[in-house]
Amino acid sequence: MGDLFGVTVNPIQPYQATKTYVCPGCEGTIEPGTFHLVVIPDEAIDMRRHWHHGCWHKELRRTYGAQASRR
Ligand SMILES: [Zn+2]
Repeated sequence: MGDLFGVTVNPIQPYQATKTYVCPGCEGTIEPGTFHLVVIPDEAIDMRRHWHHGCWHKELRRTYGAQASRR
């Protein structure tokens, strides 16, 4: 179910997280070794962003809340 809403969401396990990223949801850093998500728009695969797990779910509810709860 990674393809809802035209994006692919891949989980990044702690051992795969070897760099520091900035989460677009909270502007905070995602430290190496932190489980997080990489979100890749299907239409722009070079626009992949790394999100905290919790921030992405907040974003989903904020942006797609109505549709998401109906699915
Ligand atoms: Zn965040």
